[in-house]
Amino acid sequence: MPFIVAEASVEDVDAAVAAAEAAFPAWSALSPIERGKPLKKMADKVLAGISELANLEALSMGKPVTDFFDGHYAAVNFNYFGEAAWAQGHTSLNTPGFLNMSLRQPFGVVGIVIPWNAPLVFFAKKVAPAVAAGNAVVLKSSEKAPLTSWKVAQWIEECGFPPGVINVISGHGHISGQAMSMHMRIRAMSFTGSTRTGRAIQIASAQSNLKKVVFELGGKGPALIFGDADLEEAAKATEHSIMFQSGQTCMANSRVYVHESVKEPFLEAFKKIASSRRIGDPTDPNTNHGPQADKVQFDTVVKYIAIGKESGEPIIGGNSTESNLTVQPTIFTDHPEDSRLVKEEIFGPVVVINTFKTEAEVIAKANDTEFGLYASLWTKDLEVALRVSKKIESGMVGVNCASPVTSWDLPFGGYKGSGTGRESLLESMEHFLEHKSIFIKVNGIGGI
Ligand code: NAP
Ligand code: MG
Repeated sequence: MPFIVAEASVEDVDAAVAAAEAAFPAWSALSPIERGKPLKKMADKVLAGISELANLEALSMGKPVTDFFDGHYAAVNFNYFGEAAWAQGHTSLNTPGFLNMSLRQPFGVVGIVIPWNAPLVFFAKKVAPAVAAGNAVVLKSSEKAPLTSWKVAQWIEECGFPPGVINVISGHGHISGQAMSMHMRIRAMSFTGSTRTGRAIQIASAQSNLKKVVFELGGKGPALIFGDADLEEAAKATEHSIMFQSGQTCMANSRVYVHESVKEPFLEAFKKIASSRRIGDPTDPNTNHGPQADKVQFDTVVKYIAIGKESGEPIIGGNSTESNLTVQPTIFTDHPEDSRLVKEEIFGPVVVINTFKTEAEVIAKANDTEFGLYASLWTKDLEVALRVSKKIESGMVGVNCASPVTSWDLPFGGYKGSGTGRESLLESMEHFLEHKSIFIKVNGIGGI
């Protein structure tokens, strides 16, 4: 079934911002309970629509329907922020002669730009806290994967959100995304996507109204496999981390460092799992390895594999099929640390497995990157685990587990070029609230 997706113009962005501005005063004046009601209805709509949403994602960007955790994740976020909209400041008697207070207030209109690899996840984890905090939003979906945002947009009115509180546009980043990041009346922007686009938005913010920007960006995650690790478990989890969604996850361990003493058994176990993946149609429940999101992503991955082959053939994979945009799970070993394959985010089912001898050496290799999103380490020695966790320059560290394992109530985000913010059920409202301090002089009040 063909879908017609509208492409938003700069004027459409202006219209969406105007609608959001008009909706903001009445929306922010509601009680947290009233703002929560449509959010909780949206959670129910998403849960009831999971198979349709999974199918739309498979059609638009090729995520296998069996990998679709996105609906449950989105529902948890809509439900949680439906209950959590209680913005609080604090009071202080610490200045003698004053009773001071701070208020937490919404920005007004906030912009949200999401990528294509888990669109429903990003829609929910950003829109729910933004509107719970009393803001009105303009969200732009990715041109590669607009269909779940389009579907959820159809439920906004039915759930009881007043018109203009959530405005969803589809279109190209360089047109509507750029117009949003330059917009003078968008006061904050939350973005998940590539480091390159994050830079462009930061520049646009500086050139327009210095809107607050929060970024979740790319990654080049390392996995460190020490000699005493449970190799079967480590191979299973690190293979899943990089091959899940055909390598199109920001936190994937695309670099694996295995201690030289256990290289052979680890490689054998990893290879066995990767070569048994069922490649094919993402709408088929038997498929666990779908296509790349589109021809552009496919070409990028194929290009990186060609670059990798200049330094040595992969031990498995390396082939691709243009007619269905699939790329075989591909493993390179003993690759130069300064090569593009080790340094750059590929966003495909391509892993480099290198070896190390000492703890200091592997920490240095893991940290020798401009990214810092998710690192995974495998050892039974608690002291090694804690020492290395502390030294790794990464926003998230999995000990005896690998991405996508995270915790919904702990900060999600990256060091260095991987981002500037931290999102979670407990953290995300913070991005969408301003602080205001009010100093009240009270005669005779004294000190504490
Ligand atoms: P992208 O190319 O940066 O695009 C992300 C979004 O930004 C899309 O909606 C895109 O629109 C839009 N955009 C492009 N240029 C823009 C501009 N100049 N101004 C404003 N918006 C603009 O990233 P992607 O290819 O969709 O996603 C993959 C990247 O996201 C990877 O680097 C991945 O690591 C990262 N990611 C990070 C996280 C995290 O939580 N840290 C999670 C998932 C993905 P169009 O697509 O319509 O051009
Ligand atoms: Mg893009």
